[in-house]
Amino acid sequence: MALAGKELTLKIAEGRNSCMEKKSATSNAPIKLILLAALGCFLFTVGGGFYLFRTTRDLEAAGKWVEHTQEVQLSIQSASSLIQSIDFENRLYRLTHNEDTLVLSQRNAIQLHTTIIHLRNLVSDNSGQLSNLDALDSCSLALSRAVGKTTPELAEATTPLLRCRQVLSVMANQERELLKERDELTRRRSQITAVTEAALATFCFLILIGLFALMLRDAILRNRMAQVADRTNQELNDSVQILKDHARDAQLLATARDDLQLCTDIQQVYRSAAFRFSELLPGTDGSLCIINSSRNMVENVASWSANQTGPRVTEIFPPDNCCGLRSGQLRWYGPGASQIHCDHFIGKPVERYLCLPLVAHGATLGILFVACPDETTQNIVEARMGGVRQLVQLTAMALASLQMRKKLEHQSVRDSLTGLFNRHFLEIALERELARAVRRKSSLAVLMIDIDHFKRLNDQFGHAAGDAVLKEVAKVFSSNIRTEDLACRYGGEEFTIILPDITPENALKRAQVIREAVASLRTELENDLYSSVTISIGGAIFPQDGQSSELLLRHADASLYRAKHEGRNRVVINVQSEVAATLS
Ligand code: GH3
Ligand code: MG
Ligand code: MG
Repeated sequence: MALAGKELTLKIAEGRNSCMEKKSATSNAPIKLILLAALGCFLFTVGGGFYLFRTTRDLEAAGKWVEHTQEVQLSIQSASSLIQSIDFENRLYRLTHNEDTLVLSQRNAIQLHTTIIHLRNLVSDNSGQLSNLDALDSCSLALSRAVGKTTPELAEATTPLLRCRQVLSVMANQERELLKERDELTRRRSQITAVTEAALATFCFLILIGLFALMLRDAILRNRMAQVADRTNQELNDSVQILKDHARDAQLLATARDDLQLCTDIQQVYRSAAFRFSELLPGTDGSLCIINSSRNMVENVASWSANQTGPRVTEIFPPDNCCGLRSGQLRWYGPGASQIHCDHFIGKPVERYLCLPLVAHGATLGILFVACPDETTQNIVEARMGGVRQLVQLTAMALASLQMRKKLEHQSVRDSLTGLFNRHFLEIALERELARAVRRKSSLAVLMIDIDHFKRLNDQFGHAAGDAVLKEVAKVFSSNIRTEDLACRYGGEEFTIILPDITPENALKRAQVIREAVASLRTELENDLYSSVTISIGGAIFPQDGQSSELLLRHADASLYRAKHEGRNRVVINVQSEVAATLS
């Protein structure tokens, strides 16, 4: 069992190792993937962010350029408005000669010059517009000069005005074209930025989904591994529990075997077995029931009750009342098993029970009855059936060997025909009783008994009839002596009775009672014939007639001889005794 335990532990350890190897192999891959994904994601995010920063900056620059162009356009428009005003005021002055109008016109001309300077600053990076500005500058100077005269010719101002308008129109056209280009550039850049942002967002989203999937997969794997570990742990615990149960059962069975081997009395076997069954099957009630020697009844010899309900099985019942005994094999009654009740219950039958026959050397000795109060207890009993069967076997073997020993002892000390003690036992018993009488300083009587004319009876009715008479006479002896007296068959038709602790007078009386009882015996023989048997008894008394068994027997024999000689059917106590007498 220890070896099996080691193997199991080894297997579990191997299982764990392989499990851990698999676990480390499977758990490393996602970690590497996650690290790679994180690095890639970081690099991509940094790169994408940098690219996005650049495109946003370009977009911002393009926007500024658009604003710049719009500012240039506004300045051109302002210059055009100033020219328009100068033209209008100049014309008004020509018509009204209002000095204020002239002054206003001159101021606007100065304002135009300032606007041109501002425009020069704005288009300093555009050579085409700079040359246009040079032209505008020269014609605005001409216009200023023309406006500055109090009596100018109308045509003098008209020419620079036209020229300024032309230049401004060219400039406005160029700026419009430039604005269109810059608008287009800005639109393209904003598209690129939008596409880049969308691509980045999508990529980040995909990375997130990938990471989430990896984490989810890892969590599922971890969950599975935890389940496997739980299962393995459970199996390990179960195996340990099974091993513990086996070790406990083995220990219990070893103790039970030792106990049963120590038993010298059948009652001890009953008690010991019942106790061990109650230990092996906690929570159950049960009984050990043994078939009697005539095999017509089953006796409940020992019971146990975990629930303190007392025995469930009647004290005695016929073998046919137990279905287990009838079937000769283990039988469960309960849900999912047989539904036929046994008839050996006190009161209402229980709902879950088993009857297991006790068999030794092919002979059924009885049954083990076990009642389970609930399903859990039944499961425990079923799980320990191996131990139960072994204990039943041990009990049956102990009972069989004790019965065999008892039979052998009986055979070795008893006479097989009459059932009385044999001569061998007589010799031992007489020595023992003499020693006891010496110790107690008491007297003892030895009676030698012989059936009269037994040969004649044998010859007349046959040997079988003679045997029947011998048995009947033996019964008379057994029923007319005290418990402490010993009746033995000395040999043939001769018997010896030892009467310890008895006075010579009482010995004589007892012998007389026995003789009369035999004389009154009517043994039925064949053909309605009845024998009439008489016996002769010779007695010797300890210590008067002798101190040793040999001497006492010899004196008793001498008395018997005398009784025969004096006519038979009489009692003669030894002549050396104080109460030496002959009774007939
Ligand atoms: P007595 O009165 O002098 O004792 O005469 P008896 O015939 O009884 O004595 P005897 O010694 O002549 O004969 C004893 C007979 O007992 C002889 C033998 O056949 C018979 N006998 C001895 N043992 C048995 C036995 O076991 N069964 C039967 N049926 N007869 C037995
Ligand atoms: Mg004889
Ligand atoms: Mg005789």
